Amino acid sequence: MGETATGRRDPDCVFCKILAGEIPSDRVYEDETVIAFKDLSPKAPVHVLVVPREHRRDVRELAEQPELLAHVATVAGDIASHQGSGDFRLLFNTGPSAGQTVFHVHAHVLAGGTLAEGEM
Ligand code: C5P
Repeated sequence: MGETATGRRDPDCVFCKILAGEIPSDRVYEDETVIAFKDLSPKAPVHVLVVPREHRRDVRELAEQPELLAHVATVAGDIASHQGSGDFRLLFNTGPSAGQTVFHVHAHVLAGGTLAEGEM
């Protein structure tokens, strides 16, 4: 894992490549610490991923930076307000058996329509 001017980066990580602009994404928000882009395989009318710029494996590692974790939640709420009714589901899949497939922490923001209990 390498260090860059913007912090930790894993050269093999797909989200680090999106952050670097090496893989295209449909960005809906960005600032100094996070970006947000539309999920390629949306599971809800609004399905956006909020991704810290620094490479952290999962929400446990993100929680070591409480302000950044809170910022991710704030950005998620703003996206839900701008793109939907304001109601949203915020989800961190953590670990393979919980469905995590990209090991660069990301919050799924799911909104729009009616989200069933237990549905992603
Ligand atoms: O929680 P999990 O790790 O499974 O989520 C990864 C998400 O990243 C998936 O919903 C997948 O559709 C999305 N993805 C994406 N663009 C990529 C690679 C993955 O939106 N280039």
